[in-house]
Amino acid sequence: MHNNDPQEKPGVPLAGEYLKRYEANLRRMPEVKAWRTGEFDAGRPSALKDYFGAHGFGFCSHCQGVGLAMNEDGMGYKAVGWDKDIQLFEKCDFCGGTGVLTEKPRS
Ligand SMILES: [Zn+2]
Repeated sequence: MHNNDPQEKPGVPLAGEYLKRYEANLRRMPEVKAWRTGEFDAGRPSALKDYFGAHGFGFCSHCQGVGLAMNEDGMGYKAVGWDKDIQLFEKCDFCGGTGVLTEKPRS
């Protein structure tokens, strides 16, 4: 786990467990949207990470529980290259690609 050379980050495709978690997010979207609208109207924090926090998912808010690193603007996942015609994405640093935060956040 200490071999953490940023040059040598293998990408992973949006498939398998990542795709499963991504699809779970999509299914959750209507509920999340409703929650965020309600919280926003009530003047409370209504970001996606607040939703995860409020619901105690233990999800990694950095990658929205998917396990792939997000782009800095929060739109989509960070592509790092291609494996033939399959696009590869960077694993989320914060949860190690698990989508779940098991450790305390690093400072
Ligand atoms: Zn993460």
